[in-house]
Amino acid sequence: MLEVADLKANYGAAPALWGVSLNVERGELVCVVGPNGAGKSTLINVIAGLHRAREGKLRFEGADITRLAAHRFCGRGIAIVPEGRRLFTGMTVQENLALGSFLPDAKAQRAQTLDRVLALFPALKAKLPMPAGSLSGGQQQMVAIGRALMSRPQLLLLDEPSLGLAPAVVLDMFQAIRGINAQGTSVLLVEQNVAMAMEIARRAYVMEEGRIVAEGAARELMDRPEIQKAYLGL
Ligand code: ATP
Repeated sequence: MLEVADLKANYGAAPALWGVSLNVERGELVCVVGPNGAGKSTLINVIAGLHRAREGKLRFEGADITRLAAHRFCGRGIAIVPEGRRLFTGMTVQENLALGSFLPDAKAQRAQTLDRVLALFPALKAKLPMPAGSLSGGQQQMVAIGRALMSRPQLLLLDEPSLGLAPAVVLDMFQAIRGINAQGTSVLLVEQNVAMAMEIARRAYVMEEGRIVAEGAARELMDRPEIQKAYLGL
């Protein structure tokens, strides 16, 4: 479904991605883990069309999207939940969710999609008329994920959804992500919470300093002593 080949990206003259290759098959939940500054956000932003690749190729559903304009990615079926959520905090939860379904196809199915989002995150039901900024961190993260789902994406990109959330909330969040994937949406998840991400993903990539340094079945990666030592504190 998604093929990333030898992707290079810079900030000005400074390289952030040195040639990253990965793929996501239809229906998969894949995670990219790695330390702060490894380039995970840059990678996911390039895949969402928000940051330009300097070199390399991005293919989605067989089409080359490397040079596609940023605003066209959503229409192709790719949605991102950015790091830090980026909600419109003064607007209501309902308005934030509706913003995700501005394209004609998604707009036509807005009511059904909203039902699906509320089934996934029942806590949001009572909050629909409230300003998004008045919600707890966990609930705001639900709104951010819900807003992305409102575009009915085929591929959902999640940048650190567990960041800043209480441990109990993190568990719920990962279960919801697993549920979204079980309902048929492919997911690429970027996370520093390696243990949790590896728990729900089938395959994983480990990124360090702008490069993929390990990849494979999440279970198998978790068993490697060097991964346990570097990321799980074992
Ligand atoms: P984090 O978990 O902190 O978001 P990350 O793995 O997502 O880390 P990136 O945010 O992609 O890493 O950063 C990769 C590299 O690019 C880092 O060296 C970072 O300092 C640099 N970088 C990121 N954003 C910018 C920017 N806007 N301008 C300049 N350099 C940047």
